[in-house]
Amino acid sequence: MDKKEVLKKYFGYDAFRNAQESLIDNILEGKDTLGIMPTGAGKSLCYQIPALMMEGVTLVVSPLISLMKDQVGSLNQAGVHAAYLNSSLTANQYYKALGYAKQGRYPIIYVAPERLVTEGFLDFALQSHIAMVAVDEAHCVSQWGQDFRPGYLKIAEFIKRLPKRPVVSAFTATATREVRDDIIDMLQMQAPMVVTTGFDRNNLYFGVMTVKDRYAAVKNYLERHKKDSGIIYCLTRKQVEEACGRLTADGFCVTRYHAGLSEEERRKNQDDFIYDKVPVMVSTNAFGMGIDKSNVRFVLHYGMPKNIESYYQEAGRAGRDGEPAECILYYSSRDVVTNQLFIDNNRDNGELDAAAKAVVRGRDIGRLKKMTFYCFTKDCLRDYILKYFGEYGSNYCGNCSNCLTQFEQADVTEAARALIGCVGSSRQRYGATVIIDTVHGATTAKIKSYGMDTNPYYGVLSQVPTYRIRQVFNYLQLEGYLSVTNDDYAIVKLAVKSKEVMEGGRQLTMKLAKEPPKAEKETQARNKKNRKGLPGEGGFTLKEDSLFEKLRALRSEIAKEEKVPPYIVFSDKTLAHMCVVKPKTRQEMLSVSGVGEFKFDKYGERFLACIKTSQQG
Ligand code: ADP
Ligand code: MG
Ligand code: ZN
Repeated sequence: MDKKEVLKKYFGYDAFRNAQESLIDNILEGKDTLGIMPTGAGKSLCYQIPALMMEGVTLVVSPLISLMKDQVGSLNQAGVHAAYLNSSLTANQYYKALGYAKQGRYPIIYVAPERLVTEGFLDFALQSHIAMVAVDEAHCVSQWGQDFRPGYLKIAEFIKRLPKRPVVSAFTATATREVRDDIIDMLQMQAPMVVTTGFDRNNLYFGVMTVKDRYAAVKNYLERHKKDSGIIYCLTRKQVEEACGRLTADGFCVTRYHAGLSEEERRKNQDDFIYDKVPVMVSTNAFGMGIDKSNVRFVLHYGMPKNIESYYQEAGRAGRDGEPAECILYYSSRDVVTNQLFIDNNRDNGELDAAAKAVVRGRDIGRLKKMTFYCFTKDCLRDYILKYFGEYGSNYCGNCSNCLTQFEQADVTEAARALIGCVGSSRQRYGATVIIDTVHGATTAKIKSYGMDTNPYYGVLSQVPTYRIRQVFNYLQLEGYLSVTNDDYAIVKLAVKSKEVMEGGRQLTMKLAKEPPKAEKETQARNKKNRKGLPGEGGFTLKEDSLFEKLRALRSEIAKEEKVPPYIVFSDKTLAHMCVVKPKTRQEMLSVSGVGEFKFDKYGERFLACIKTSQQG
């Protein structure tokens, strides 16, 4: 079988995605290979397909038990004999699996890095023909990254002990240069071919919303996406408790996850979510690493994360199946303070000396600032993210809240003068809220006790709504006309450029939203979403929704029988494609993206029958 036949037979796909083919070819030629592709791009196939074509066993090193379980489950469903060896097995199960491995039962074995150099495993490895060692989530080898795993350092040692050096391949979604160089060094890859694909995930819609009442906004979102599966990320455990509690009381089916819950509850809640028993997970960032659930349709951030890396990683858990999905961040200026507290109380760096700690802190504050500016910018959000990772996007993606908002250039010189003047005249002692309240003419106790009601700029912008003043304030910060200190107090200070506005007579214009009626904005986004759907495969319309629901119910039923998560039976994308093709025969069913021969033989007929009855009905 050639690689295309393997792709079709086992995985049910007709074509490779952009970089997959060259990665696979390279591995098959026996060369070391490093693939850097974003989440959901399809890295697994790049080592699974060669593994099925090469003589000998492929060992896949993976950092998490849940990831291994997921992948092995998927492979078994596709008709591939695969197994995992990790600490979730009892000693008995472990030696049994190792026994089968010795007999050559498995072309693919997933193994935890710590196992590699243990006696029992080495005994097997030295007797077997290891064709390839594939390192998944390879950034775990790098001390620069967030997910460093000391066990990964054993991989090179293990490879050295093998009688014949296997092909070494490595895969990650982390793009930075340091991490890439580290992977090549630490795994001792030999003249590797490095393939990097763009980091854009064009099926994801990005949105930022600054709202007064985040809870109401999130509730409203869930009401409009009742059947969809999604994750709501909160900044703190307390926020998780509150949001989850209120949503439950308001009749939504949600579950929760954070490090303060018992292990048992965490496992149960995670399974409920993965097995589609509960569609929505409310969690801290403790949830998600190793969750490959492909049909997550939205990721909402009930608070701003600490940097763009975290945000893109968390948001990126949406839409792994390539179907349209939405990532919306609900921003509040309080998030900045919360994150600053996290940074100041960071205990991960216990071993560092004071000077090094200060460097790390400075870096973290810098990253937080760039995250904050993501919430302020009026330009394309996707472009902002891609630029952050050193890539060039286009200035207009047409699938983010900024691209879909109509802006107008507004002259904000007067407001800028008031804000800068207020900061100067109050001797640069206050935070943003005091300054904004002052120019707006608020009558709060705080303003009075600070004597700001006698400030010359008090109330000069009383006609401008505070959210607009804040937008101008954010803009001044973004463009460097004002700065904010990096401590807990977040004091607003004048900047070198402040003078240009106050003395130089500089006129300032900025983009301000025209604010079309909300409903209109949503239809725009939805139209866009449909258009962006399955390219060339046709999105499916409301009329076929009921068929989709029927197929989904059948999928759940089968998932229960097979004891695997539903998305491992078929992805949402595959079901959506079935709704479009409406296959009547085996041949037609096999033309559906994601239906391989093995899966067809297992449950293809049941899906055909389901489609047939729904046609009659
Ligand atoms: P990654 O590890 O890069 O995050 P995965 O390997 O988990 O991504 O793949 C993400 C999804 O894309 C899976 O559902 C997979 O089946 C699907 N996929 C991979 N390659 C293809 C392809 N050539 N055509 C269609 N779907 C694919
Ligand atoms: Mg992966
Ligand atoms: Zn955009």
